Amino acid sequence: MSDQQARQNLIEIASSLYQRGYATGSAGNISLLLEDNTILATPTGASLGRLQPKELSKLTLSGEHISGNKPSKEVKFHLGLYHNNPSCKAVVHLHSLYLTALSCLSDLNYQNAIKPFTPYVVMRMGDVPVIPYYKPGDIQIATELSKLAANHQAFLLANHGAVTIGNSLQDATNNYEELEETAKLIFILKDQKIKYLTEDEIKELRK
Ligand SMILES: [Zn+2]
Repeated sequence: MSDQQARQNLIEIASSLYQRGYATGSAGNISLLLEDNTILATPTGASLGRLQPKELSKLTLSGEHISGNKPSKEVKFHLGLYHNNPSCKAVVHLHSLYLTALSCLSDLNYQNAIKPFTPYVVMRMGDVPVIPYYKPGDIQIATELSKLAANHQAFLLANHGAVTIGNSLQDATNNYEELEETAKLIFILKDQKIKYLTEDEIKELRK
């Protein structure tokens, strides 16, 4: 994918996420890894619904700003994910409604915030660990995500939102959408008795 195609791809996906309510205001940030090992990222303060190709931030993998507008301060943790997971080609971080609501619950299991009751999160992402709360942009978010990057595809940031990665921007976006729908189901089913998947059913999905 050329630089030009990658910019178009990022803008289309960001706009689609915005139009469908996954992102509001100027919240959330998305990045992808280009073939020359540079990063294309959404700029600071920009709405995902109205991005222009030229304003996208271009960075080196070590975080030096090459061109475009200044990147979001949250790009630090994107870099940590690329550095620690060679198959990570894109990062999606949003403050979508249901995942953010889930991230604010006090009794989350920090090893896996989503106890499986449908197959898809297990098949696509496996366990979804929780990063403790730190101020947005705090380097500790990058440090904690870096430690988990090699073995996970999705993460909840406590009292903040969620992060997914993938082997393409479409893949990372599909992971995010699946995760948000699952969080929505958790709240819809809140007062119901859920039939969770059994250990054997989960094992079969992980094969
Ligand atoms: Zn954020």
